[in-house]
Amino acid sequence: MVNLNDVRDEIKEYAPSVELMAVSKTHPYEAVLECYDLGQRLFGENRVQEVAEKFPPKAERPEGMYVALIGHLQSNKVRKVLPLVDRIDSVDSIALMDKLERELSGNDRVLDILFEVNASGEAQKSGFESDDALFEAVKHLPEVPHLNLRGLMTVGPLGNDRDANIRCFSHVRQLYDKIRDEYGISLDILSMGMSGDWKEACDCGSTEVRIGTAIFGKRSYDV
Ligand SMILES: *Cc1c(COP(=O)(O)O)cnc(C)c1O
Repeated sequence: MVNLNDVRDEIKEYAPSVELMAVSKTHPYEAVLECYDLGQRLFGENRVQEVAEKFPPKAERPEGMYVALIGHLQSNKVRKVLPLVDRIDSVDSIALMDKLERELSGNDRVLDILFEVNASGEAQKSGFESDDALFEAVKHLPEVPHLNLRGLMTVGPLGNDRDANIRCFSHVRQLYDKIRDEYGISLDILSMGMSGDWKEACDCGSTEVRIGTAIFGKRSYDV
């Protein structure tokens, strides 16, 4: 039994306009379908291989099911992942942008993406590591017309330090505002907050929270 309704109710009450992504990594497709039957459409997965094995081909998925890749994408997996997902939330280098652009332009497809920001500076995390690197990627967007930047994604710092979470999320919120205001790019997705820190993320302006454990229960292995 998935705990979707409780999570959804809690978010509705705390932050009514925030979108919920159900992060189904390590959990079976049956659990995804259970959520789908309860009205959930947006799902997040963090490994290419797992999406390939778990989900049917896109044309055979239930109507409106939308799958985003939220884990680090290696450039040698680009060709494999593109037919499997609707959005890539973990774009974190100009080289990856160029690689995606080459594949997408060959298929005449435009893909929604988010830039991932490593705002906590923790070495094991992926994402752009400095503000400058992020802005360089923003400036590169005109060269990659098949990528449609929708916003930013970040993973909060390890541990349960409320102040550290808020520092991290506010910083990413400022980056988001700056890309909109100074670079004139219209963004609509600020993906911040997981099971343990989504309230702080919403306080800092998150528009989309990514919840795994609170919906599906503990993962038996971590990825
Ligand atoms: C696993 C994962 C989540 C969900 O984490 P929970 O703590 O289980 O809610 C969110 N975002 C990313 C990038 C993840 O890898």
